[in-house]
Amino acid sequence: KESVMAGENYEDYMHPKAAQDAAEKTALEELQEVRKSLPIYGYREQLLQAVEEHQVLVIVGDTGSGKTTQIPQYLHEAGYTKRGKVGCTQPRRVAAMSVAARVAQEMGVKLGHEVGYSIRFEDCTSDKTVLKYMTDGMLLRELLGEPDLASYSVVIVDEAHERTLSTDILFGLVKDIARFRPDLKLLISSATMDAEKFSDYFDTAPIFSFPGRRFPVEINFTSAPEADYMDAAIVTVLTIHVREPLGDILVFLTGQEEIETAEEILKQRIRGLGTKIRELIICPIYANLPSELQAKIFEPTPEGARKVVLATNIAETSLTIDGIKYVVDPGFSKMKSYNPRTGMESLLITPISKASATQRAGRAGRTSAGKCYRLYTAFNYNNDLEENTVPEVQRTNLASVVLALKSLGIHDLINFDFMDPPPAEALVKALELLFALGALNKLGELTKAGRRMAEFPLDPMLSKMIVVSDKYKCSDEIISIAAMLSVGGSIFYRPKDKQVHADNARMNFHTGNVGDHIALLKVYSSWKETNYSTQWCYENYIQVRSMKRARDIRDQLEGLLERVEIEISSNQNELDSVRKSIVAGFFPHTAKLQKNGSYRTVKHPQTVHIHPNSGLSQVLPRWVVYHELVLTSKEYMRQVTELKPEWLIELAPHYYQRKDVEDDASKKMPKGAGKAAI
Ligand code: ADP
Ligand code: MG
Repeated sequence: KESVMAGENYEDYMHPKAAQDAAEKTALEELQEVRKSLPIYGYREQLLQAVEEHQVLVIVGDTGSGKTTQIPQYLHEAGYTKRGKVGCTQPRRVAAMSVAARVAQEMGVKLGHEVGYSIRFEDCTSDKTVLKYMTDGMLLRELLGEPDLASYSVVIVDEAHERTLSTDILFGLVKDIARFRPDLKLLISSATMDAEKFSDYFDTAPIFSFPGRRFPVEINFTSAPEADYMDAAIVTVLTIHVREPLGDILVFLTGQEEIETAEEILKQRIRGLGTKIRELIICPIYANLPSELQAKIFEPTPEGARKVVLATNIAETSLTIDGIKYVVDPGFSKMKSYNPRTGMESLLITPISKASATQRAGRAGRTSAGKCYRLYTAFNYNNDLEENTVPEVQRTNLASVVLALKSLGIHDLINFDFMDPPPAEALVKALELLFALGALNKLGELTKAGRRMAEFPLDPMLSKMIVVSDKYKCSDEIISIAAMLSVGGSIFYRPKDKQVHADNARMNFHTGNVGDHIALLKVYSSWKETNYSTQWCYENYIQVRSMKRARDIRDQLEGLLERVEIEISSNQNELDSVRKSIVAGFFPHTAKLQKNGSYRTVKHPQTVHIHPNSGLSQVLPRWVVYHELVLTSKEYMRQVTELKPEWLIELAPHYYQRKDVEDDASKKMPKGAGKAAI
């Protein structure tokens, strides 16, 4: 009897380590069950067979059916990774990171080992990595070092329907590689019906399509146009929360700032509703959201509570969040637009296409029937929205890809195999810009400077600024500035209840008033002097995370400097050399003050304004160089620095003539303007 008891007890007893292993094992087993429940699972064998039989395959399946997370694993299980890596591209960095994390979890391995990801300035892979998720831009850069992609056995161009610039360029390049590497498998995967177009482009490659699981989604339009879509979105969320049965909500907003504002307002209003309301968990997701917080959107909603995900376009097709029952779609996204005549590029909030609206609505019907609230009218939808989103290649500055293609030895750009060609004007503009930057010579060939510039994963104007800093002996300062400009998120922290303090802290970095670039440099060097202190960041209303990212980026830029044989040099006392380096890269972005306090861009006159967040917004220097334009209520210049007009002739003689920079000082200027000491 005793022995039976002992046996029973033995069953119950487990060494803590063994218990942990067992728990992990069940978690893994559970994940395997989830994998098997995905729509794609039923087509696993057929899919693998199709891959075996064809070199190029177009794959179409609904969003959330398992294409991104499962196909690479199937290929791994079928042995493809014995011959080389499986690479899977994503248009967005967050998607690359999040999907890689998920797949590592499903395979029970540590992220960065067998499964890894690579995004700009962040490589989370190792020698062991066989499944590599990466942004499309990173695969493009890898091609510069490995033109035949020899280390890959399969390349998956995923989310192909997004038609980002890098994806479109990759199409042309991988199509070519597939021709001379018959052992390379190429999969083009898409969530929408563009399949025929992809197939045609890839020499009538077969299409493998499989059905997803879709529940009906009720579509609601507003009866009248909304004046303020943010406010309308918040009211809609609260109404759903109070009136509708449980189920999570997904709201599409256009960017980080909007999402943060929405989060704040929602929190306030919820507090105002008192304690009788059930819990509403707010989860933001956007490109620069720190990875620790990204995982939060996937955590199951506690019983009785409701989750509201505030997302950018990222949640349209790249990421699938289970449990969404309600979608709130204001109908906008932030898009790059480019005017090939003026060469000016700007980010602006644009109405989405019908195809996007359909995708967004579909997110509500993945696990059960759902509802979609469109914050625009049915008339608006039918008459004003385009059918499809214009591919990025047709609405962007091409300088960066032209430089990349030139360094890949592709010279005949007019005849490059574009799926949809860019406007010829845009190509010419890109060539002109690269010539003006000294990256190409008159024959359109890469110069030594151009070859150096191509090494940097940056916009050619930023690369030029870095390369030229060698001449002015200030590469140390310039890479700090370049890193700060490349962070993505905001550097300065401005909580609503401490705006005055935050603004004062920010203005401390602007003493001397020469511009935002120098202010960024001051922030970086002051932080460095405190030995990268977190406390210092708090005290100065600086975002610690952004600074850490800047440091990472800076380290990498320093490594790249070594590669192109530029010595680190510092010219601390001569900030003019720093400003000259900036102008040598950004001279196409210059503007001159007008009588009414606005600015006119110098080359292709257009009215622009200094962004209110700039340290120069009250100073209004006569001549400025800016980093970028953003169009909100006005066309704003962001990150602005004062310059001397004669520098333009000195640094870009082939671009500016005397008459462009003539400065009639007797003209009446607004009060207090133009007084800054140059
Ligand atoms: P597709 O590429 O076809 O749109 P995915 O492979 O991205 O589909 O998604 C398949 C499933 O995996 C979805 O149910 C999604 O919720 C889940 N999933 C994807 N990424 C994560 C993650 N990081 N955490 C939890 N679940 C995830
Ligand atoms: Mg996917």
